[in-house]
Amino acid sequence: MFTIAKTEAARGIWSAFKETLSEPARGMVMVDVIAAGICGTDYHIYSWDAWSAGRIKTPMTIGHEFVGRISAIGEGVTGYSIGDRVSAECHIACGECHFCRTGNAHICEKTSIIGVDRPGAFAEQVEVPASNLWRVPDAIPDKHAAVFDPVGNAMHMVATAKVTAKNVLIVGGGPIGLFAAAIAKAHGARTVALQEPNQARAAIARSLDLDLVINPRDPGASEEILALTGGHGPEVILEVSGNGKALNASLDIAAPGAVVALLGIPAGLVELDLGAKVVMKGVSLIGITGRRMYETWYQVEAFMLKNPDLMDKVITHVLPATDFAHGFELMDEGACGKIVLDFQTLDQRLPI
Ligand code: NAD
Ligand code: ZN
Repeated sequence: MFTIAKTEAARGIWSAFKETLSEPARGMVMVDVIAAGICGTDYHIYSWDAWSAGRIKTPMTIGHEFVGRISAIGEGVTGYSIGDRVSAECHIACGECHFCRTGNAHICEKTSIIGVDRPGAFAEQVEVPASNLWRVPDAIPDKHAAVFDPVGNAMHMVATAKVTAKNVLIVGGGPIGLFAAAIAKAHGARTVALQEPNQARAAIARSLDLDLVINPRDPGASEEILALTGGHGPEVILEVSGNGKALNASLDIAAPGAVVALLGIPAGLVELDLGAKVVMKGVSLIGITGRRMYETWYQVEAFMLKNPDLMDKVITHVLPATDFAHGFELMDEGACGKIVLDFQTLDQRLPI
């Protein structure tokens, strides 16, 4: 089996090697991977940063955004057949804790993550609990179905912030920010502005036909956003850069009473004048993690069915899985939107 694994953590050497997985355990299914998205998390692990070194137990097959076909079914699984095309929620919640039992499995304290805590999808096969599967409608192509997960992050954020008829500012035009912009537009935002310093990514944002795409380093950036919003500032801010300075700058121009959804994960502590920028302006800060199970998945499916053109614009590359290193290079340069790896090329099936 082809897989991408960390074989020598100390020296940061990666290699492709063969491995054989056993039959699926009780309640689990085996999925033959068709395609898998590269997530920022995969990039962090590939770069072996401090977070990865503290979290990942090597060797580990990474990758958690995928679509595939069921090839084996474990005992006790009902409702699925061999050959079904599926994606899956990568957060395996316990199903028993207070949070799971109150409809909030996305914040389950005992979550285990596919491709982080257990073997993932950058492989020919991945083993998944049947309860986490998502059956993919025929009308959704493989390259879109591979990225249910990050579109779900964006959807959870946009749906939580409630953008309809609101002036929305998206801070950060990486893959999740770009998906969020497309979703905010589809969900009837009054205006959608996106700020992104990387010009390749700003160009992708422009292709989404937003109301404003702006470089935050442009000295007139804040004024342009204020002008777009009738001088009041954005009523919804979606923070998807993880950049503390960008968050501060966006709060300076937020409308009083703004909803600020935070999905980007800062590398360190962020200093914030809470009194002036949040309390006295009546601003709501909301942390966004994962996807609501499975409300977000229904919302993403509807979005993908209605907006295949927007999906195609944000997914800029479909690479043969063996070119994974090139994919990580593109991410390093920011010269891409979403990248999908095609695992069918491994066994000479037709490319997606
Ligand atoms: P990414 O790193 O590809 O995108 C971040 C973008 O922000 C980059 O394009 C960068 O150029 C841009 N940026 C940097 N400074 C900026 C500024 N001052 N103003 C505007 N944009 C700026 O990441 P991604 O894959 O799109 O993910 C976005 C963020 O969400 C990351 O921080 C990631 O770690 C986080 N994340 C969170 C969750 C969750 O569940 N909360 C899930 C996945 C990813
Ligand atoms: Zn739980």
